[in-house]
Amino acid sequence: MKTIWTRLLEAAAGQITDASVLSDEAQKIISSMEKGLKKWLDKLMESFPMAQFLQVYYRKLRAQEQLDVEFSTVFTDWVDGENELLTTVLNEHIEKATRLGWKGTMQEFVDQFGLGQDAASTLVGALPDSVLADVEVRVATLVDDLADTTITKIGNIVSNGLEARLSVDEMARQILDFTDDDQLTLERAQLIARAEVNEAVSRAAFEGAKAVGADEKDWNTVGDDRVSEIICLPNGEQGRVKIDRAFQSGHTRTPGHPLCRCTVLYFGVDIKKLRALAGVA
Ligand SMILES: [Zn+2]
Repeated sequence: MKTIWTRLLEAAAGQITDASVLSDEAQKIISSMEKGLKKWLDKLMESFPMAQFLQVYYRKLRAQEQLDVEFSTVFTDWVDGENELLTTVLNEHIEKATRLGWKGTMQEFVDQFGLGQDAASTLVGALPDSVLADVEVRVATLVDDLADTTITKIGNIVSNGLEARLSVDEMARQILDFTDDDQLTLERAQLIARAEVNEAVSRAAFEGAKAVGADEKDWNTVGDDRVSEIICLPNGEQGRVKIDRAFQSGHTRTPGHPLCRCTVLYFGVDIKKLRALAGVA
């Protein structure tokens, strides 16, 4: 299975983002999340106790005369500690994006059916706990993915180094090459922030539309020549589909890929459900 890093970097190679498509509010969340992630990545790279860790690990393996053992818990314990900051950053921003997606959808329906601002406030407050619980699940998965990738990569450098009888210094240099890349760090932070805010907004919009009985949806592309020809273009050409059905790409809703700029439009709102949820007679 591909890690989140691999998926994001692959997407970055093939897709270009268009900032203008996302709302100003979403842009603010993305840029604040980028800063938070960058801080986490910088902290991870700067405080990586590479030399000490390698010395300990190297001696341990030499003592055991065993070169191919599971990666040391010294490192995994350390990464677990660092991940607290990451969890906080992700939770804060993904929850904001979820509220934004829910709010945006409800505001659209309020405008469409002329329900007024009191109804809008009630609807915005009706975001179910289950949707927020999904945020926690998502964050846990992301943290696992990010930490696993780092651990696996550094673990490979160490085990290959031991096999090739490299010195501790040489292994440390290889790890530095892997971690000490500012551009990669920044790019990662940007890609994750954009993809995750996109995902959270879209997920909340989908749940919001279902909550008021919408039964159909339409995949809406930006319509320029950067739209993915494999995933998004054919989805957009499909026309309306039932809300619980997948589009031809297998996606139930946007994003079709990490940097997807498409949106989903929802139809067939049950006006009785909408009015009941909005507290309007
Ligand atoms: Zn798309």
